[in-house]
Amino acid sequence: MYKKLFIPGPTHVVDEILEAMSVPMIGHRDKLYSDLHGQVVTKLKKFLQTDGHIYLSTSSSTGMMEGAIRNCVNNKVLMTDCGAFSKRWAEIATLNGKEIDLIKVEMGQATTPEMVDEYLSKGGFEAVCITHNETSTGVMNPIKEIGALVKEKYPDILVLVDAVSSMAGTDIKVDEWGLDVVLAGTQKAFALPPGLCVVTVSEKAYQRSLSVGNRGFYFNFEQLEKKAVKNQTPATPAISIINALNVQMDRIYKEGVETRFQRHLDMAERVQSWTRKNFALYSDENYLSPTVTNVHNTREIDVVNLNAELAKRGAMLSNGYGDLKGKCFRIAHMGDLQIADVHWLTDQIDDILGL
Ligand SMILES: *Cc1c(COP(=O)(O)O)cnc(C)c1O
Repeated sequence: MYKKLFIPGPTHVVDEILEAMSVPMIGHRDKLYSDLHGQVVTKLKKFLQTDGHIYLSTSSSTGMMEGAIRNCVNNKVLMTDCGAFSKRWAEIATLNGKEIDLIKVEMGQATTPEMVDEYLSKGGFEAVCITHNETSTGVMNPIKEIGALVKEKYPDILVLVDAVSSMAGTDIKVDEWGLDVVLAGTQKAFALPPGLCVVTVSEKAYQRSLSVGNRGFYFNFEQLEKKAVKNQTPATPAISIINALNVQMDRIYKEGVETRFQRHLDMAERVQSWTRKNFALYSDENYLSPTVTNVHNTREIDVVNLNAELAKRGAMLSNGYGDLKGKCFRIAHMGDLQIADVHWLTDQIDDILGL
């Protein structure tokens, strides 16, 4: 039986998008493809408020997390560890032979501009990597403020952002906030199937990449740019998902960008108040995510069992990530889920648990 996904990726995909995936195939060197690619990039530039480069990477987001490091860092980069995904990015940097320094914060806490300032002031960094929305803890880190700090005090340092579970669910003003690379996969708040990653690259980051060694081929900005000017990609792209993204951008504008972001906040507030009433919020109240809530399992319910019961009713949520398994569970409220969906879900949980 199909289960409606309240997990933080992949998220629920509406029928109109599934239909946009099942159209006849076109050649990726055909003008039809270039037209499609050009339309998508134009819409994304407007949506993300950037005049920089935009590349469409046929990979999951992790591919471009690696790409961002390989393009932008020769030697040393400042990484964070505020949960599983920021930790993964730090590991990627290390495995690519980069020297890192690590801002480690307690799970459920945010990475602040003050912390970034303290570390960057030590000197020697080429870039700082920030996870916008730490999906494992339900914390949204203040990238606007971090971007402003770096722009003012460390103008040579690039700001690289993993916006995988926030982009399309909350506003990101790429240029105004001084963000050099911002990446996100399509299976989270864009509410498309997995397989494609969108990345913005500032001219500064692009120029920097040209002086970095061993960038490889697949995620190399220079290779991507050579084809992007022709509205193409170096290798065969996930054409079906790009077509779905084109349709989804129109749906986003039809709903209204502000309305979409407000819908995410409304869903988040509903889940947060339900959580406060019945459990507890795991994360710092000042940095709660608009797209995913990490519920502290204070009643010590059996999360696996809860999900098994929900499955019978056609829904699925997520267990706590990594060390938080069993101690927390996560409810995603992103993409094309509606406020009525989260009401329905919390009603089902109340019924199952007798709350
Ligand atoms: C899901 C997620 C990732 C990993 O994305 P993949 O598409 O599975 O590679 C990275 N960072 C964050 C914040 C995520 O939520």
